[in-house]
Amino acid sequence: MNLILLGAPGTGKGTLADGIRKATGIAHVSTGDLFRANIKEGTPLGKEAEGYMARGELVPDSLTIAMLEARLGQDDCRAGFMLDGFPRTVAQADALAAFLAAKGWRIDAVLNVTLADATIQDRLSGRRVCASCGRSYNLQAMPPKVEGVCDDCGGAVEQRPDDRPETIANRLRAYHEKTRPLVDYYGGRGLLHGFDNEIGSKETLQRILRLLAGL
Ligand code: ADP
Ligand code: ZN
Repeated sequence: MNLILLGAPGTGKGTLADGIRKATGIAHVSTGDLFRANIKEGTPLGKEAEGYMARGELVPDSLTIAMLEARLGQDDCRAGFMLDGFPRTVAQADALAAFLAAKGWRIDAVLNVTLADATIQDRLSGRRVCASCGRSYNLQAMPPKVEGVCDDCGGAVEQRPDDRPETIANRLRAYHEKTRPLVDYYGGRGLLHGFDNEIGSKETLQRILRLLAGL
């Protein structure tokens, strides 16, 4: 089973992806996580991507597509994968379609996760992430038990540099201009399933798993 998770920044895709991975065992492929790992390791790709990410802009398609295709070529993706944060432009969606066709693979469903704009702002500004294991927290809704310390691994819980208010505005603009058209793109292909995450991640995850069970 191959899935795409679509949605604006801050709609809770990462948390849902984690739940889907635990329930189904398919690989979780997050382009944001891949870029952050490259930055941490100081690779040439990380050095190229860093500036765009810090400004809240999209990394150029050519770099992103090459990285994603390399990741999909790894063994764990053969048993199924979910894409989190990719595609984010129509050019990326077209490149993905060509790549999958060449492999004889297909996308089974596109999950479009939505949330009211005001909720998105609150979630992003309150979001904190463990620097060691990547677990997400929220200062209001889901703080770590000890301030600044990850419940799971004891790592440092920090604000992502691109979760600062001025960068959040750029990320939302990039979403509306470049990524939002993919809702129609996949809707027109009959693949789109909408999930309003305003009801909470637990309930949304249950609804997603019910959909996946029927695919
Ligand atoms: P969020 O969904 O919360 O914005 P991500 O971790 O998915 O966070 O992405 C963080 C940043 O990484 C983006 O703002 C962008 O700069 C870059 N990025 C991630 N995925 C892509 C992509 N598919 N195309 C271009 N840039 C991307
Ligand atoms: Zn941790």
